[in-house]
Amino acid sequence: MFSRSSKHLSFATTFVLVCFPFWNQFFSLEGVPLSFHTVLKRNKKETMLTEAQLKFTESVQAALQNGLDNKAFHYDHDYELDSVPAAIKALRPVAEVLHIDNNFRLKEIHPGVGDLSLLRWLNVSYNKLEEIPVEVARLARLDRLYISNNELAFLPLELWALKNLEELRLDSNKLRALPTYVLFLPKLRELLIENNPLLTPTEVDGAETALLFPPQRVGDCASCSIRFAYNSICFLTFHDVCGHKSLPIVHYVCSERCKEQLQERLNHYDVQLKRTEEEYNSPLRARD
Ligand SMILES: [Zn+2]
Repeated sequence: MFSRSSKHLSFATTFVLVCFPFWNQFFSLEGVPLSFHTVLKRNKKETMLTEAQLKFTESVQAALQNGLDNKAFHYDHDYELDSVPAAIKALRPVAEVLHIDNNFRLKEIHPGVGDLSLLRWLNVSYNKLEEIPVEVARLARLDRLYISNNELAFLPLELWALKNLEELRLDSNKLRALPTYVLFLPKLRELLIENNPLLTPTEVDGAETALLFPPQRVGDCASCSIRFAYNSICFLTFHDVCGHKSLPIVHYVCSERCKEQLQERLNHYDVQLKRTEEEYNSPLRARD
């Protein structure tokens, strides 16, 4: 008798032990399996989609069947979607404008967004994004990038490659500094940066930059653009950009030589900017 109940106990214990790790996969909050986000993030496999991701996928399919208005795909006000699935890649041949905004739980955009080579305007404002996929740097035609009202603390170092970028909206995030390239994007004319906890010269004075910004292990050097795969050298300077005064700019470079070259380039940037302002404000121009 004892051994029989012990056997049952053993079976029950085994059942609980085996099933418990997967227990939360069987429960859902408002129909969304809770653990799927974690599984997707860990494995980057798209075999299991949440209901919200299926809805997104269906929306992409419908857009492809019906055709896009003005080559634009819109997806907004879905309060369940937390991660944009790989289906986004299917928009590659048609989408020039992508608005995935106002999805208040959205934390991740699939790296496949970098495949949308025709994209000119990417708007992912009013989500909960903590990072932007580095693959966005492949969108060579992009002229507008809107990331306002998210949870972004850092921008990918690779976005220096967006040479056609004209508008960059970063307002209402968690940014403390901007990467070097905002100074050197050749077509950038509008930068929105309000409502970020940007560092001030007083806060930085005497502080170790490496403590404010831990060195990056991987990234593109701000001077030579070559990808570094070891600890970089990090430093911070302040510059005027697109009408904003004294913005904190954080630089990651691969070597002391690159640091020197970048410092020269930064000095040149300040001198050029001052010269342009003086020319703009000159009395000769005022008479014109
Ligand atoms: Zn370098």
